Amino acid sequence: KLVSREFQSENTIIKIGEHEIGGEEIHVMAGPCSVESRSQILETAHAVKEAGATFLRGGAFKPRTSPYAFQGLEEEGLKLLAEAREETGLLVVTEVVDVRDVELVAHYTDILQIGARNMQNFILLKEVAKTNRPVLLKRGPSATLEEWMMAAEYIMDGGNYQVMFCERGIRTFENYTRNTLDLSMVPALHSLSHLPVIVDPSHGTGRWNLVPSMAKAAVAAGADGIIVEVHPNPEKAVSDGKQSLTVPNFTTMMDELKKLADAL
Ligand code: PEP
Ligand code: MN
Repeated sequence: KLVSREFQSENTIIKIGEHEIGGEEIHVMAGPCSVESRSQILETAHAVKEAGATFLRGGAFKPRTSPYAFQGLEEEGLKLLAEAREETGLLVVTEVVDVRDVELVAHYTDILQIGARNMQNFILLKEVAKTNRPVLLKRGPSATLEEWMMAAEYIMDGGNYQVMFCERGIRTFENYTRNTLDLSMVPALHSLSHLPVIVDPSHGTGRWNLVPSMAKAAVAAGADGIIVEVHPNPEKAVSDGKQSLTVPNFTTMMDELKKLADAL
């Protein structure tokens, strides 16, 4: 299989702009769950850039549990992300939820995010495979390692070899945390596959106060990067405020991550 170490023994390094994912550098992708307004995304982008992030995350198309919840700013959100990219030099990662929007989202973003709920949306996987954009493939909430690797295989088989895995927690009996972050997937994937592995401690815990520890644990486990939710005012966030770091908390976490990475 194309995803496997047997097919390719060296690590895949995904080059985006001047950055390389899967190489020496550990990338931090940070930003709000949802793009909410121009001021919100620009303020967050400047703050996370200042703290050392290399990518800006933010959802313009949101897969929400309730159809009555905020569904995202859609194309306006993509334009705001592009503006933040222009202003800060941060690269952008954002989710695409619908095959009809793949071209539109690919036009604005540097990395296409496939959300957990769509990990086995094979039609969508085949569609993102046709773009030249790297893909961040989140783990389905109840997907096994094998199913997850086969989802990546769909994208690679479709001609796009720039795929990275993202562990974001799975559903277990534990309900103190939103999901159970399965950090064993980091070394497991690294042994079975040549593709980079990113960890999302925000959706992986659902609680902001647990995020810095899990981010450090992910780096210690060998993750190639972290994707984390940051909001200038988490209490006012339209989605996932409870798991979002404030800017000061994010900045502290970044300092700790740098020390850890240097020590490894
Ligand atoms: C998100 O990144 O905001 C998101 C919806 O993540 P997931 O697909 O992992 O739930
Ligand atoms: Mn979110």
